[in-house]
Amino acid sequence: MRAADLYKDNTGKPVVSFEFFRAKTPKAAENLEKVLDLLSATRHDYMSVTFGAGGSTREGSYQLIDKLKNERGVNVVAYIAGVGLGPDDLTNVLDTFKGQGIETVFVIQGDEPQEDAAFAPHPEALPHASDLLSFIKARYDFCLGAAGYPEGHIRAESLEKDIQFAKLKQDRGAEYLVAQYFYDNRFFYDYVDRCRAIGVTIPIIPGIMPIYTVSLLEMLTSVCGSSIPEPVRQGLAGISAEDREGVVKFGIDLATRQCRDLLQHGVPGLHFYTMNRGKSVHAIVSTLEKEGLV
Ligand SMILES: Cc1cc2nc3c(=O)[nH]c(=O)nc-3n(C[C@H](O)[C@H](O)[C@H](O)COP(=O)(O)OP(=O)(O)OC[C@H]3O[C@@H](n4cnc5c(N)ncnc54)[C@H](O)[C@@H]3O)c2cc1C
Repeated sequence: MRAADLYKDNTGKPVVSFEFFRAKTPKAAENLEKVLDLLSATRHDYMSVTFGAGGSTREGSYQLIDKLKNERGVNVVAYIAGVGLGPDDLTNVLDTFKGQGIETVFVIQGDEPQEDAAFAPHPEALPHASDLLSFIKARYDFCLGAAGYPEGHIRAESLEKDIQFAKLKQDRGAEYLVAQYFYDNRFFYDYVDRCRAIGVTIPIIPGIMPIYTVSLLEMLTSVCGSSIPEPVRQGLAGISAEDREGVVKFGIDLATRQCRDLLQHGVPGLHFYTMNRGKSVHAIVSTLEKEGLV
């Protein structure tokens, strides 16, 4: 499956995709099976598998790709994160994806693992996702995707510069962009307008991160830079700290409203960051499906 073909086909329903990471422990693996049971039965077009920076999750990612593709018969997009990897490492990973029958690779830079003192980047490691796109484009026939940041990447010099790098990703072979999550759709609409204004023509897919817990929300904000708008803060402040279900429900309602609005604005797809959890995404997509929106 070449993901860009799905996004180009605007005769059908919006493309729905779910993102997963490899399970780190046997207990997490058991839980992931249950999540996959639930989300395999939820309306979707493909699932994607993340890649740990420095290749740390390489084997686990291959196994999860294999499970999704071959055991569950799902369309799969494989991610590669270039940080720290030399040319041989990269071709090794890409050859493995090819051998697994992967046709779409999502190309990201990844972040240097802060907690890993042993992390030693290869001297020929590529500095940016756009360089990795060129590397892959010159050697493989994968359909390529890349990341975009409606509020600007956390280390970006400016949003404007970051948008120019999104254009560079397109020029280097990206056929679609998936956006970092946001909780105010205006960030996404402005981002798309600004991308279009400088010639980014490829599909830009909103990333949806339902709020799962307050601590996870705060942790993600600190590493991803997506802001927590005041109405969201106020809504969460009205839920007691012990009421975990209340937070989940708030997250489902917020994301469902976001998705409805995005779909009314004609987005070509919705990409869900599942964080290997099933309940919220299942609830959101099922509601949108009942409403005939996906
Ligand atoms: C949809 C999505 C999926 C993700 N999946 C993963 C995953 O599986 N594994 C993982 O480790 N991380 C993942 N990430 C996180 C991602 O790796 C980080 O956000 C990382 O810091 C940036 O990756 P990038 O591909 O956007 O990098 P880049 O495009 O290289 O950008 C990184 C920074 O450099 C700047 N920049 C970009 N190009 C240039 C240039 N040519 N010259 C100078 N500056 C430049 C940008 O403005 C930005 O500040 C994902 C992010 C998203 C949005």
